Amino acid sequence: MAKITRSISAKKSGVPPVPKKVAEKGAKKTVKAAPKRVAKQPTKSKSLKPKPLKPKPWTPAEVHEAFSRFRKANPEPKGELEHLNPYTLLVAVVLSAQATDAGVNKATRALFAVADTPQKMLELGEEKVREYIKTIGLYRNKAKNVIALSEKLIAEFGGEVPRTRAEIETLPGAGRKTANVVLNMAYGEHTMAVDTHVFRVGNRTGLAPGNTPLEVELGLEKVIPPEFMLHAHHWLILHGRYTCLARKPRCEVCLINDLCRWPEKTV
Ligand code: SF4
Repeated sequence: MAKITRSISAKKSGVPPVPKKVAEKGAKKTVKAAPKRVAKQPTKSKSLKPKPLKPKPWTPAEVHEAFSRFRKANPEPKGELEHLNPYTLLVAVVLSAQATDAGVNKATRALFAVADTPQKMLELGEEKVREYIKTIGLYRNKAKNVIALSEKLIAEFGGEVPRTRAEIETLPGAGRKTANVVLNMAYGEHTMAVDTHVFRVGNRTGLAPGNTPLEVELGLEKVIPPEFMLHAHHWLILHGRYTCLARKPRCEVCLINDLCRWPEKTV
């Protein structure tokens, strides 16, 4: 019965029947050539990895508590860049890019003694400025910027450091961070300058996580109560510089170790 059915089907479909020998040969070949089915081993797929838990955001009461502790420990925090007026502060901040405050201070003490205004800096000239700051990294470019920004201050701002971020950002060598430092330290504005320390502390603690300095800046501005904003920038810088160190944070002496959300904190 089965035989009959097969031949009818072949005829009906128009496919000539395969001779028995060839069919057997083909079948043998097929068996030989067929790859062994290997069960797929589970690879280290992303979906199997547990996703890192998002730290719980700080409550307003916790943020208030943290900054109250910073204030109690250091009521009047000061920046470590030496300066005599808004202009020398601006120059010092421009020189501090990729350099330490201590290194900048070493060079600017003598420079500011002879040039503490844009006019005096221009009279000194780029070559001499270069001599004063040659111990600081990228000093050639920085000397150029100091002269160019002094020229611009005289030409467009009456020799004064302007009071808006947008205007300061137009000065050669000055970016958003420079503008925020100057506005905060020279003019008492509630700005948040995010340097490497503030960026690290904002992310580690979970106070203001962000992928860019701007994200961290805006996050910190959002969560820190206005009563702390004048000094918040310095408290966070000093915390990052002396306690929440990049490689080996000193969690055991940290003022806010009970509030910090960093999963790797050592307390
Ligand atoms: S507990 Fe440790 S990681 Fe957290 S802020 Fe303090 S020093 Fe930094």
